[in-house]
Amino acid sequence: MRAVRKDRPRGPSSRKERGAWVVLALLVVAILAAAGLLALSMMPGDWGSEEQGPPDRSEPAVNGPVPAAVAPAPDLASEPEAFDERPYDLNDQAISALEDGRFDQAVEWLEEAAAARPDVAVFGANLGEAYLRRARAGEGGPDAAIDDFEAALEWIEDAERRAQIEGLQRRARLLRDEERDFVVEPTLHFTFKYDGSRGELASGVDRLKVLLEDTYQEFGEQFRRRPVEAGEGRIEVILYDAEGFDSVTGLGDWAGGVFDGKIRVPVEDLRSELRFARVKSVLRHETAHAFSHSIGGAAVPSWLNEGVAQWLEEPARRESAVEIARAKLGASALFPLSRLDGNLVGWEDRAEVARAYDQALALVDHLSVQYGADLVFSMIAACREGGVGGAAEHFRERTLVELDAVLGDLADTLYR
Ligand SMILES: [Zn+2]
Repeated sequence: MRAVRKDRPRGPSSRKERGAWVVLALLVVAILAAAGLLALSMMPGDWGSEEQGPPDRSEPAVNGPVPAAVAPAPDLASEPEAFDERPYDLNDQAISALEDGRFDQAVEWLEEAAAARPDVAVFGANLGEAYLRRARAGEGGPDAAIDDFEAALEWIEDAERRAQIEGLQRRARLLRDEERDFVVEPTLHFTFKYDGSRGELASGVDRLKVLLEDTYQEFGEQFRRRPVEAGEGRIEVILYDAEGFDSVTGLGDWAGGVFDGKIRVPVEDLRSELRFARVKSVLRHETAHAFSHSIGGAAVPSWLNEGVAQWLEEPARRESAVEIARAKLGASALFPLSRLDGNLVGWEDRAEVARAYDQALALVDHLSVQYGADLVFSMIAACREGGVGGAAEHFRERTLVELDAVLGDLADTLYR
């Protein structure tokens, strides 16, 4: 974007030429701005479910350098030209700010650009995108996000995107209403949020805080990364009652918990040891997703993500959990791995979802027994650079074996 600035006409020598210059400048800038708009529109999809994970902010949509505009050298001796470059400069700077995650600054600059030149549609469209990105980052809290979604809707015209934004805004309202009176209790690495008036939670939450801090250290060793020390915020843990969880996630009671950038878990009563133990393993599972996302980004294949999360749930009971999964898998053919790369939440057949989870656990266990758990964790890390195929690629590089062949080995051990 910046290459154009020096090519922008500065000194037309006659009134007629000046008119031509302005037209050319507008044309060039409109093309460049359109490129900026395109870049801003390439946003990750909505992320409402456990398997998808939050958008990967490490991959901002960046448009490539724009070729220098074809323009004759300006006549430096002529009178200064009246064309105001500032809105275009602000637009360029705002795009850089957005890519760096400086949303407030981007909004401020684009508001100024759009106010100065209401006739340049792309400034308004970019402003809409800036509001949207700030809302999705959610740094200003739910009320600010809801306002930003509203502001984005004033500028974004595409019907499909508007429907998506309205959905996000609805969800933001639900979250705000559900969590309005929640207490916020930070520990070293987590922020717990829950309804403090629920006496059945209080002492249990204190125990969970201690357990989860231990889990953080344990996972930090295994994943070889500590997200908070690496500069990320504390991991949020939000405890709902069953109804609140359903209304916020839309998942109903079949889901034990969700990680969508925050850990959300339905909790009925922590005074019962049985329920406490259940919540504890759900929290370990979702915390594993938080670590996976921290090292691998949004592209970690579901089978690897879910396999590792289950594998880490209850180390003391891992062996029996794996045996149960293997026994259930013995009855029919395994899914090809490519079917288990994407989101499993969208699958309609619950029995198939259960089989997918069993296969994920059995395969991760098989890999860690045959090749070492370190390799499994480094496969997750490889997805940050290599995308969804990064895990298989990394495995092939390290072992000279195809992952599909390992799946065949696993099948042989099941059906023998
Ligand atoms: Zn999971």
